Amino acid sequence: MLSTSLRVLPDAFGALAIAAAFAFLLTAPDSAIANGYQSPTGPRPVEFLINSQWQTGLHLVDSSTESLIMAKDGWLHTVDANKRTENMRPTSERYQPASAMQMRNQLRAEFGRDFDVVATQNFLVVQPRGRGNRWPDMFENSHRAFVEFMTKRGVRVRKGRFPMVAVVLPDARAMYAELDRLKIDVSRVAGIYANRCNRVLTHDGGRLSDIAATVRHEAAHQSAFNSGVHSRVNDTPSWITEGIGQMFEPESLAGGIVGSTHRIADRMNQESIRHLRNTLSLNRSDDMVRWVERLVDGDDAFRDQSSVHTAYAVSWAMMFYLAERDHTAFADVLHFTATRPPFENYRRGQRRIDFERIMGIDTVTFANRLTRYLNELP
Ligand SMILES: [Zn+2]
Repeated sequence: MLSTSLRVLPDAFGALAIAAAFAFLLTAPDSAIANGYQSPTGPRPVEFLINSQWQTGLHLVDSSTESLIMAKDGWLHTVDANKRTENMRPTSERYQPASAMQMRNQLRAEFGRDFDVVATQNFLVVQPRGRGNRWPDMFENSHRAFVEFMTKRGVRVRKGRFPMVAVVLPDARAMYAELDRLKIDVSRVAGIYANRCNRVLTHDGGRLSDIAATVRHEAAHQSAFNSGVHSRVNDTPSWITEGIGQMFEPESLAGGIVGSTHRIADRMNQESIRHLRNTLSLNRSDDMVRWVERLVDGDDAFRDQSSVHTAYAVSWAMMFYLAERDHTAFADVLHFTATRPPFENYRRGQRRIDFERIMGIDTVTFANRLTRYLNELP
């Protein structure tokens, strides 16, 4: 089983995906945002130049330095502000996402004859030739279990606009080469969801049981960002995105063991609960109050090696508690964060105000209840 640390970098990339495109959103103080985001008058179709080719896309938003465009295959691209006139032009063509058939052909051309592209209802899985249905079934089952889980709790789930793409490279080395090609800088990962290209990447070079939890975690990110549970173009607090990722690591939750979810111990992320029991003193709630407030207010704990494990574990606990005990608040916090305006910086004070309003209690009371709940778990 992999330790959570192996997911740190990809998650920083995945959850704050736009980071790749709008680097300063990651770390920017409020002033950086004040200084330049404007939405064009609603998303408009444009032609834009990428890798020496003109493509049609949807122009989403401008900053002082870049324009953000969604291509027909769901990729997010940027055009430099000072190249807008050369590299971007209006078009009368309607923007229409690529069909599964078009994307399948595109993936075949991209990956060549050593790979199959297997279509399922919701996925296009690129994998080394002749690997059968194990990976396609795993992604498809994970997504279906995700949709069912959310629907049962009153979360609005919509059908994605793009077929989801999962790329299974033959081994770790090939995966890192592919990550390099996509200019994604990570190390020591078993898989990642890259928001910019809307793909999950993993590899088939080890035992599946060693990387399965990570792949389920990343697949949950992809499901969430493609079904409207999170937005790909706004800044969702990391405790929410990572709490969801952690929650879907157990095999029973991701549809891996049919009918096994009736035992709470099977639904729990055992690694997270173990970490919490070893790290925080759960006989009082002081520790939990501090952690809940830190995660509600900002995402810094996810960027610091000394706090990142606990940040993931507490995020899991917060989302798991809501998913098990308060479906209304669980659905409300997802609905609210998914519908915030694109690219609007989510300020610390506002995060706290929204949290307390949605939960109907203050952070201290929330942390007290959460601590009590964790103590009751098997
Ligand atoms: Zn994650």
